[in-house]
Amino acid sequence: MLDLIIKGGKVVANGKIGLWDIGIKGETIVSVECPGTLTDDDALKTIDASDKLVIPGGVEAHTHVGFSHLSSVWGNVTAGPEDLSIAALWGGTTTMMDFAKVDQDKNWNALRAVQDHVKNFEGRMYIDYSAHVSYLGPSTTPENIGQVKDLISAGFPSIKVYTTNHAPMPNRPVTMINTGQLVAIMEQAAKHGAMIAIHSEDDEIVQWNYQMAQLTESTEWWRLPQIRSNISEDLSVRKCVRIAELTGAAMYIVHTSSKEGVEAIAESRAKGYPVDGETILLYCSFNSENYKESDGMKYHTYPSTKSESDRLRLWEGLHKGDLNILATDAIGTSYKQKTSGRTAFDVQGGNNGIEIRIPVAYTEGVVKQGMPVERFVDIVATNPAKLLGMYPQKGCIAVGSDADIVILDTSVNRKITYSDLHLNDYTPWEGWEVKCWPSTVTLRGKIMIEDNQFFGDPSDGKIVKRKISSAVLAKPL
Ligand SMILES: [Zn+2]
Repeated sequence: MLDLIIKGGKVVANGKIGLWDIGIKGETIVSVECPGTLTDDDALKTIDASDKLVIPGGVEAHTHVGFSHLSSVWGNVTAGPEDLSIAALWGGTTTMMDFAKVDQDKNWNALRAVQDHVKNFEGRMYIDYSAHVSYLGPSTTPENIGQVKDLISAGFPSIKVYTTNHAPMPNRPVTMINTGQLVAIMEQAAKHGAMIAIHSEDDEIVQWNYQMAQLTESTEWWRLPQIRSNISEDLSVRKCVRIAELTGAAMYIVHTSSKEGVEAIAESRAKGYPVDGETILLYCSFNSENYKESDGMKYHTYPSTKSESDRLRLWEGLHKGDLNILATDAIGTSYKQKTSGRTAFDVQGGNNGIEIRIPVAYTEGVVKQGMPVERFVDIVATNPAKLLGMYPQKGCIAVGSDADIVILDTSVNRKITYSDLHLNDYTPWEGWEVKCWPSTVTLRGKIMIEDNQFFGDPSDGKIVKRKISSAVLAKPL
């Protein structure tokens, strides 16, 4: 006897789309069958997904739960694990990746940092989760570089580094690692099988641009695209890519923002290296002209939203496979917090796009630009699961996979407005029309949302133990 059958829907399974019925027992998908094979008598409950699209639960590769290390600058960010994960769930995302910073609070110890970090999520997450281990300049010590192997064994095989620092302001932590540290950490990643995620900007260019902005009293927030510039991303991504090629490490660039960044990634991929790129919905939705609105800082996250031609190249990259992950860089902040910084030095990063990621990506990608539905599923679910070591447990509808399933109603015509969403209290996508919305979401077989009714509990989310496959480490996705 099955627990649940989802029947009649158009299902995206294993990179193909077709009419299949899905059988679920416990937490797991146990059958994907031709219509009619499973009958209502075979299960305790049947959900009719006729005329709807059935996809694997979304996998969000880039969220920040809280942001305590910058509370001295921006005040305490209110959205904790409960807030971000409930918003994610309503929007069809069932797994999220956070960042565990290796800092003073954790005695600069990488393994302890990530284990403590995810322990804090127990009983507080509506969806499944894990965390990247975020090494900062001062924590990229020989001891922590030597812990890469232990992190992999403990199920945390992705490490995030920055090649730049924050704006020159008091109380900002050093985030940047130097080139020597980057080489050393990539050597360890290549040797043991970790994925390196890089926030890639050229710090010398960025800091010079900040100095010049100050000198010429040109510090308005809307100048950020010139400060966190295209040339900075170009040079830095090329350097990171080259180090990956020389050391054999698998890596990807987080929140790729410029056409130059996309080109650098594409060139390395064409040569067969395991190099990849993520971009974020904010950069695909807005451009540097939007920054000039009176509250245009709401379109910012670091590095920065770039020009319209960059925005179009990001979409082209997502279509062609130069970029393989569409994430959000979610940080839940209030409108007041998000718009309180008025200069290029103090604009708050992040955005609260986690709930609308899948509906907006479907509408912009599939409906408006003709992206194949299978490709849309790749960029919002399958690829992040593969790249971060959660596939095929997550990111696909297949026998043996976790029963994380989203039924998308593609007949809707809905206007996004912040009061319908679950993160306070604004959205940069206010007024955008979307052509789909999740009607049912399951997490490991449990119905979390059905017909606008919510059945989730903050103890439902569990940590995902990750391991990156040798194929993903060896060649581009
Ligand atoms: Zn981020």
